[in-house]
Amino acid sequence: MRYVIIGHGVAGHTAAQRIRSLDPVGAITLFSKEPDLFYYRVRLPEVVAGEVNMDRLAVQPREWYTQNAIDVVLGETVVEVDPAERRVVGDRGARASYDALLLAVGAKSFVPPVAGSDKPGVFTLRDAADARAIRAAAETTGTAILVGGGLLGLEAGYGLIRRGLRVHVVEMFDRLLPRQMCPTGARLLQNHLETLGFSFFLGARIKEIFGADRAEGLLLEDGRRLDGGLVLFSAGVRPNLDLAKSLGLQIERGVVVDDGLKTSLDGVWAAGDLVQHRGQVYGIWPAARDQGRVAGENMAGGSAVYTGTVMSNALKVAGVDLTSAGNIDPEDKLPQAVFTDGRVFRKIVMDQGRIAGFIFYGLKTGLRECQEALASGRDVSAFLAAMKEKEFDFSRLSA
Ligand SMILES: Cc1cc2nc3c(=O)[nH]c(=O)nc-3n(C[C@H](O)[C@H](O)[C@H](O)COP(=O)(O)OP(=O)(O)OC[C@H]3O[C@@H](n4cnc5c(N)ncnc54)[C@H](O)[C@@H]3O)c2cc1C
Repeated sequence: MRYVIIGHGVAGHTAAQRIRSLDPVGAITLFSKEPDLFYYRVRLPEVVAGEVNMDRLAVQPREWYTQNAIDVVLGETVVEVDPAERRVVGDRGARASYDALLLAVGAKSFVPPVAGSDKPGVFTLRDAADARAIRAAAETTGTAILVGGGLLGLEAGYGLIRRGLRVHVVEMFDRLLPRQMCPTGARLLQNHLETLGFSFFLGARIKEIFGADRAEGLLLEDGRRLDGGLVLFSAGVRPNLDLAKSLGLQIERGVVVDDGLKTSLDGVWAAGDLVQHRGQVYGIWPAARDQGRVAGENMAGGSAVYTGTVMSNALKVAGVDLTSAGNIDPEDKLPQAVFTDGRVFRKIVMDQGRIAGFIFYGLKTGLRECQEALASGRDVSAFLAAMKEKEFDFSRLSA
């Protein structure tokens, strides 16, 4: 068997690993647009902060690929897939033939159409090259403006604060982390982040990025002006669909895959940030890893089934313990158990007697038990009232 994997992120890497564990002799070729071997993308904010170099983020040393007979072609963007010949072609001339192909090309950062967003000094953070460029730009300015108050933006912003910059955050919504936090928790988080050096402009829309030769700041639609020589957009991601489109694959918000991670084209699987499974586009590391494992197994002749990954996010900023998962019901429509003392916040959302989602901010006791109850779907309706108490014994959920 000849396996070709396009994309060396967590989905592609995990698939290669799984294939090798099932097929010791098949030829595996892994193409990567980036010059670095597979690395912990989630730790790029530490590169921005200047705390680690890229070599510290590599997941496996080069010898691992040699030992596992995985041929990694770095710095090669696959620009063409010929499904009739079952062959892929890279932009620097590399070619490979396949019996089974995995598209694991991930996503790219989305930049909203704002005047001036093409100026030097405007960045997004998706890969190592971006992190290095932002780190260099941070040397030449004292203030950064972050557009988007989501998880990734706040982590990157905190990296810049650790580098000594002031960081303004402009967010369209009227609160931080609109997808992970409800209004009460978001307010507590904002208070804490302000003590770290962030300043927030919520419910704000950008009119333009100004500056003669490079970004010098931005104007908001309400007329306010923010000065800053580094503008970082963190406004969501979009799947890299070029190859999938050229192959005529079924695409909605991502490449549509079935429970075996197969696309609509024979011999072609897809996994990670690129795909849409049962209507869901995840955009999180654990989902890409789980999907890569299932795709790899099936490419090697298996019949693994992917049923989904629980949506879970944690914010990695000092002094902040925030984990949210599942349906956090920001509009408070479902039964819920909330505890807060004005400093910490815990919300557990119930749906038909089961935990549908939760937010833990500033406290961790009971987190693991809630994660397990969410994953198992067991009926815990008897504890709804008791879970509002700070000292509730969460081990009762699994009893
Ligand atoms: C800064 C940052 C922080 C994050 N933090 C978290 C977090 O805390 N928790 C979490 O769950 N998720 C986090 N994520 C999201 C997580 O990293 C992604 O969900 C995950 O990396 C997706 O894996 P993937 O393999 O699908 O795609 P990617 O990791 O994007 O890998 C795809 C690879 O394919 C390459 N590629 C694209 N096109 C081609 C081509 N034509 N030819 C060859 N190669 C190609 C790309 O260059 C890339 O290297 C974060 C992301 C970023 C950027």
